[in-house]
Amino acid sequence: MAPLIILGGGLAGLSVAYHLRGGYTLYEKEVRPGGLCRSDQLESFLFDRSGHLLHFRNDYVRKLVHRLLKGNLIAHRRRAWVYSKGRYTRYPFQANTYGLPVEVATDCLLGFIEAKKRYHITASTRYKNFEDWILRNFGRGIAAHFMLPYNEKMWTLPPRELTTEWLSPYVPRPSLKDVVMGALTDQEKPFGYNAEFFYPRRGGIEALVRAMAKGVKPIHTGYRAEAIDWKRRLIRFANGAEAPYNYLISAIPLPELIRMLNPFPDSLERAAAELRFCSVYNINFGISRKNLSDKHWVYFPEKEFSFYRVGFPANFSPHMVPPRASSVYTEVSYSPSRPVDKLTIVNKVKEDLQRAGILKSPKEVIAEQVFDIKYAYVIYDHTYRKNVRLIHQFLQRNRIFSIGRFGGWKYSSMEDAILDGKETAEKIAPLL
Ligand SMILES: Cc1cc2nc3c(=O)[nH]c(=O)nc-3n(C[C@H](O)[C@H](O)[C@H](O)COP(=O)(O)OP(=O)(O)OC[C@H]3O[C@@H](n4cnc5c(N)ncnc54)[C@H](O)[C@@H]3O)c2cc1C
Repeated sequence: MAPLIILGGGLAGLSVAYHLRGGYTLYEKEVRPGGLCRSDQLESFLFDRSGHLLHFRNDYVRKLVHRLLKGNLIAHRRRAWVYSKGRYTRYPFQANTYGLPVEVATDCLLGFIEAKKRYHITASTRYKNFEDWILRNFGRGIAAHFMLPYNEKMWTLPPRELTTEWLSPYVPRPSLKDVVMGALTDQEKPFGYNAEFFYPRRGGIEALVRAMAKGVKPIHTGYRAEAIDWKRRLIRFANGAEAPYNYLISAIPLPELIRMLNPFPDSLERAAAELRFCSVYNINFGISRKNLSDKHWVYFPEKEFSFYRVGFPANFSPHMVPPRASSVYTEVSYSPSRPVDKLTIVNKVKEDLQRAGILKSPKEVIAEQVFDIKYAYVIYDHTYRKNVRLIHQFLQRNRIFSIGRFGGWKYSSMEDAILDGKETAEKIAPLL
């Protein structure tokens, strides 16, 4: 019988292979597996593709990751902040307006109370769009001072163009008491799914990939799939190789997979054209000074700053930087509706870091590593659900299971990628 093929050696593809324990061949286009979870060394600095922190909601994944990394994990209590109006306030903004100018904090508090009085929110409340969700749940002040500008910056489009199906559990919803306490006091109460996180002591986030990949054979790297004859069940690679399959598990981005289908299924044309995503230009700097910040990461909602988030890898693990140095990662979102000028953005980011008081001078930058992450966030617009369902149904009818963050076409974490792989392995094993 023709074999099972796994396409894409990111965490999702690796996890399928790891859980199957045999009977597959995995193909990956890059020279090493890991996908978004690779870490690159540059002049004694180790850079991930932006911040990659391990948050666990699932006990199985928590135990698996601890077993794989055997003591090579540091536990952290999140130190995440928001920078706006020229000052730092604690994350999440909606529960921590203490420290903002009084008129801003008042706006946020009154808006929240008005929204509470006006809308009776229950689990079955239906929202027109994400903006509607923000206004009803948080009120106009929190919406205007953080939620709308931040989300527009990150998603590269106005929140009214997004649905709400992605946001639980990512956006914390504090109670009225929490919001009042957070306006009057510097409260340290943890909110949300990522209040605690783990990070490898050594090796960056790729340490997890390496540990998982040890149990995965064979992995063929340098194999970029470029065409899939889905009727004959045959993959052709850019290096000229061909591989027949009985079942195909694909963890590569859905638009790329659809483009490869040969003959092209006309029924998918419109759905494929409507899939939207935004990209992240991830600019990392090695800095010649220790202790650049005491924070883990900081959100920047204001337009004046080019990035929507920056973070400090040395605070995840001291082994991310050489002695007497530190580093910073920055994330700039872009898409066809809001392009980025790749010629000027690196200098602009340096200037913005200086304006935020993070860099003292651009001369402090001693290493520079840019990752252009084409597929970063899947956009949940109003056509999302029907298109993704149509595409996945077609693929499954033709024995192709498309999984992971970009194969499944969803907002999901490393933990979800591992679980996706495990569940797919369990589903496919009886068919082999
Ligand atoms: C900016 C950013 C920050 C993030 N931060 C976090 C975080 O803090 N915590 C967290 O849990 N998650 C985070 N994530 C999410 C996390 O990165 C993903 O959920 C996870 O890495 C997805 O793994 P995957 O295997 O589904 O996809 P990928 O990692 O994208 O893997 C896909 C693989 O397919 C390969 N491939 C593509 N095309 C082909 C082809 N034609 N032929 C062969 N191979 C191909 C790629 O090279 C890649 O190895 C973040 C994501 C982004 C974008």
